[in-house]
Amino acid sequence: MSVSGNILINGKWLTGRGNNFKGNSPVTGEQSAEDFSCADNEQLENAVDAASQAFTSYSQNSDAQKAFFLRTIAEQLESIRPQIVARATWETALPEMRINGELGRTIGQLNMFAQLLDKGDWKRPVIDEAQPNRQPLPKPDLRLTQVPLGPVVVFSASNFPLAFSVAGGDTASALAAGCPVIVKTHSAHPGTSELVAGAIANAIKKCDLPAGVFAMLHGSGRIIGSALVKHPQIKAVGFTGSVAGGRALYDIAVSRPEPIPFFGELGSTNPVFLLPESLESNAEQIAESFLASLMMGVGQFCTSPGMLIAVKGPALNRLLASLAEKAPALAAGTMLTAGICDSYNKHCAERDAIGSLKIVAKGLNANSSANQAQVALYSIDANDYLEQLALEEEVFGPSTLVIGCDDQAQLIDVANSMKGHLTAAIFASEQDQQLAVQLLPTLQQRIGRVLFDAYGTGVELSSAMSHGGPYPSSSAGQSTSVGTRAIERFTRPLCYQNTPDALLPVELKNANPNGIMRLVNDRWSDQAID
Ligand code: NAP
Repeated sequence: MSVSGNILINGKWLTGRGNNFKGNSPVTGEQSAEDFSCADNEQLENAVDAASQAFTSYSQNSDAQKAFFLRTIAEQLESIRPQIVARATWETALPEMRINGELGRTIGQLNMFAQLLDKGDWKRPVIDEAQPNRQPLPKPDLRLTQVPLGPVVVFSASNFPLAFSVAGGDTASALAAGCPVIVKTHSAHPGTSELVAGAIANAIKKCDLPAGVFAMLHGSGRIIGSALVKHPQIKAVGFTGSVAGGRALYDIAVSRPEPIPFFGELGSTNPVFLLPESLESNAEQIAESFLASLMMGVGQFCTSPGMLIAVKGPALNRLLASLAEKAPALAAGTMLTAGICDSYNKHCAERDAIGSLKIVAKGLNANSSANQAQVALYSIDANDYLEQLALEEEVFGPSTLVIGCDDQAQLIDVANSMKGHLTAAIFASEQDQQLAVQLLPTLQQRIGRVLFDAYGTGVELSSAMSHGGPYPSSSAGQSTSVGTRAIERFTRPLCYQNTPDALLPVELKNANPNGIMRLVNDRWSDQAID
């Protein structure tokens, strides 16, 4: 499958009538052979119209039809694995092994939602039967299900060119919910985006679905991205990226005459709390495992550990010494784009200049012409940190701040000062449990996933996963963008009252033909209703 540089609208590959741009290799700066063309407003209108028309029939597809579609996309992706891996590796500088793994994850996500649809109970149907003789008034028959919202816009992430991109989790969950998707690509991997969009387009044909179910547009966030979010026929948005970009688009989504939900996964620093006994027993091992986690994807994971918090003393000194010994040998790594690398270097330069911050260690020198980032570890006294809470903000890349607290009470104060994060880790031995008990209520209010003796990098595909958290880690902390519950973002509840059985959706019919679990008169049941 070759790359054309075109955009995909209503099943047709078209030359965009907006600007052109080139893809490039962040390692060498070499430009792509292809020119990638951006959509103009008329093309955007066509994509949205096609998605709206497709919604009418696609939203009525059975779970089995949608599951077949998702599995067909997965097969199509697998069939062009070598091309995707080669292109994504070139465009992102991420190693082949990582890209191969990420493609496996992307395919796994599609299959996970297909399995969810197979089970048929994801709409969590609730039936409260009528009580015609209830006094003083009869009770009506009430039946609750979930229905899809309408066309969804998905913004691809730069740091996961497959799993959070064109056919990533947002797209898979929106399609599973019954919503057409328009992807606004990320300019960091346009060729990869086209290959993946081609796989989806093939699947649409094989499944005989309306072509408007999926579109892929290149274009700038401020022009095409904003226009998509403003468009009255768009009903929800999925986004992964920066706080600034996500916030700008969120503000548009909620200021429309008809506000729409904006599911933005934004910035997170993922604090790691090292409780005293655990640190005392494991300082050197923690230094090693922490560096391994930090170095994943050159620190460009949304769950990268950006803060270590511990009580000052000999154990913390051992950890700092171990970091100072190991980090200088760490090789610099190429970042995803020149812009992300510049932003990282700027943040590190700012930290270098802050008097209260000490440089613990830096990694091997970076080659700036290859957009390389050098590991940068800093430490600060908690008394100074609590005066400069802006230091909590995400520095996207391999940098971490170690915060030394006077005592356990101050460690809790630091936790209390925090905003929302995707993850928080607690390293605790049995003797630390009392402090962990004190810490947990604070973290409960601020964190999407709390881990013990592990780091947040590596987000399992599981129905029990939550990837989200209070603002600014997410703009919609009540939802998750990973795991089967991600589907709920693109649906809303619909209650049928006194509706004839023949007119009810299959999951609410008396006969329960698919034998799914339902809450009937407040009891779980997979039986038919007489
Ligand atoms: P980004 O700048 O937020 O861009 C993500 C998407 O949003 C792109 O499609 C971009 O369009 C669009 N966008 C950005 N600003 C916008 C605005 N003001 N109005 C409308 N659309 C806008 O993220 P990025 O390019 O991936 O990386 C930049 C920085 O984001 C990184 O340095 C890092 O700080 C952060 N980041 C965080 C995470 C995370 O998981 N926490 C992930 C990735 C990036 P364009 O194509 O026009 O740029």
